[in-house]
Amino acid sequence: MTYDNNNIFAKILRNEIPCKKIYEDEFVLSFYDINPQKKIHALVIPKGKYVDLDDFANNASIDEIAGLIKGINLVAKKLNISVDTGKGYRVLANISEHGGQEVPHLHFHLFGGESVGKMVQ
Ligand code: 5GP
Repeated sequence: MTYDNNNIFAKILRNEIPCKKIYEDEFVLSFYDINPQKKIHALVIPKGKYVDLDDFANNASIDEIAGLIKGINLVAKKLNISVDTGKGYRVLANISEHGGQEVPHLHFHLFGGESVGKMVQ
């Protein structure tokens, strides 16, 4: 799938749509999900134009890949849900049709602040 510059997260990255920002650096932007599924529901997205995790793995630089993984950990620490600062959390990425992905810009969901239950429902 080619990247759609008008997807909602692309608009958030361009500041065309507001978000409740949690963290930002050279590689990632993190903000709260508009429709939280758990007490804490954050999203972490790369700044680069990647549709999904497969696109990212195939095409992102090593620095971008490291930056995204580090970014997830930094956000978890900031939200006090990491193993350093809290009781843990779940990271989830939906990928394409069978994964149930709705927004075609790679994003990781971080769920925490309470027990998040079974892995797949
Ligand atoms: P997906 O199903 O693609 O993995 O998840 C997309 C997520 O983006 C959903 O959890 C949805 O609530 C969230 N979302 C959709 N539109 C917006 C928006 O405009 N702002 C924010 N913060 N989250 C959004």
